[in-house]
Amino acid sequence: MVKMNWTAGTQCVAKGNNKKAKSGELVYHKGDILTIVDAKKGYYKARHNTTGEEGFINSTNVRERKALRVDPNLSLMPWFHGKISGSEAVCKLQPAENGLFLVRESIRHPGDYVLCVSVSGEVIHYRVIYQDNKLTIDNKQYFYNLIDMIEYYSRSKGSIATVLMKPKEKQGTKSAELELSKTGWLLDIAKLTLRENIGEGEFGAVYEGEYMGQRVAVKIIKCDVTAQAFLQETAVMTKLQHKNLVQLLGVILDKGLHIVTELMTKGNLVNFLRTRGRSVVNFLQLLRFALDVCEGMEYLESKKLVHRDLAARNVLVSEDSVAKVSDFGLTKVGSKETDKVKLPIKWTAPEALKKEKFSTKSDVWSYGVLLWEIFSYGRQPYPKMSLNEVKEKVEGGYRMEAPEECPPSIHSLMRLCWQQEPRRRPGFSKLREKLEQEMSKVSPGPTAECREVFSSASRC
Ligand code: ADP
Repeated sequence: MVKMNWTAGTQCVAKGNNKKAKSGELVYHKGDILTIVDAKKGYYKARHNTTGEEGFINSTNVRERKALRVDPNLSLMPWFHGKISGSEAVCKLQPAENGLFLVRESIRHPGDYVLCVSVSGEVIHYRVIYQDNKLTIDNKQYFYNLIDMIEYYSRSKGSIATVLMKPKEKQGTKSAELELSKTGWLLDIAKLTLRENIGEGEFGAVYEGEYMGQRVAVKIIKCDVTAQAFLQETAVMTKLQHKNLVQLLGVILDKGLHIVTELMTKGNLVNFLRTRGRSVVNFLQLLRFALDVCEGMEYLESKKLVHRDLAARNVLVSEDSVAKVSDFGLTKVGSKETDKVKLPIKWTAPEALKKEKFSTKSDVWSYGVLLWEIFSYGRQPYPKMSLNEVKEKVEGGYRMEAPEECPPSIHSLMRLCWQQEPRRRPGFSKLREKLEQEMSKVSPGPTAECREVFSSASRC
């Protein structure tokens, strides 16, 4: 028997069903995600990620859920070969096999695509016309993107000669679908119920939903180029698990990319603070939020990840008022290239703005701005200043004053984060220690008490 080295916290995917569990055993179905809670010699106790139930499991009936490797060759469209000619496509579809297909960019009609399919020893080229933001082959069936189109013709032949049977993968690419499924991160669209729209992101709408009874948030990215870019970020998220990071639950490939995360019912931190204000949210809770974010960032730092877009709008609040860092949209391993145009000027450290030098220490700068947002109850930083003014003044040494009623000790923390020289800024563990000291000044009791104080206040 293979010896497993699973410890508490390891996530597993069920290989089969355990519907009629004996006493003490956990009930689960094939594909369910379970988290090991106790690993003693000879047996494993696990918690079902969606039902929350706990019980013993047979380790041979589950496999470990692995992180997805961040790999630029991972592709949502491995059958997409870019700009190649018709005859090149014919060569690639040899030896002939009914239903073998690829998609290429049209050379003669830029902006259009061509679906090439092998049928009875020949290759048929279907021109895919791009009009009014939609794609069509026959002016009857319209699709938002290529992924959608391929999905459709893989199920039904519609007006083409054959159902698409087998993708001809471009050399060097790896099917994201296959990898997601192998590692245990591919979820099943049939188990998802979508509910109301709860937010609009830059790249897609966010919906509330239910996945096997669990309330979830689903971000849907329809454009396949954007979805492809997000895939890398999603791969990063499969490596991360922390109470102060919004948890990825999995991915669904259907009409684009569905990114399924835990639902943060109290929305983003800026709106949370703005809509409640001082009368509802006390100082202790503000400190708690600051500490929550700091702990999430300390974890990211330990994984050598740089967030690059840390701001209160990218922090979400859970039902039990825990703040969690979200939106890893710009997260990159190390400090490589970035898109200068999209930088959030008021939150970005001077060296990152000028020389694109992103690091944990530039995240610390942003964290200082986030502290300012928290203690000002969600005000826009550098009030009434234009972006150019902010850039110039900050470069010249200007720093924001303390928000109204913010204790000097917290303002000093912000100033530490805003040291011009990145090296002189504290790391997140140092910041956490300092915040814990602040916390003990206000409340000597356990941190759970803070949430109690807050929740009773919010009920008033
Ligand atoms: P952007 O792309 O602008 O950074 P997102 O797409 O991440 O924004 O999210 C847009 C909005 O959707 C958020 O501000 C928040 O209000 C809501 N939202 C996003 N993710 C979740 C979630 N997991 N739970 C609850 N609300 C969410």
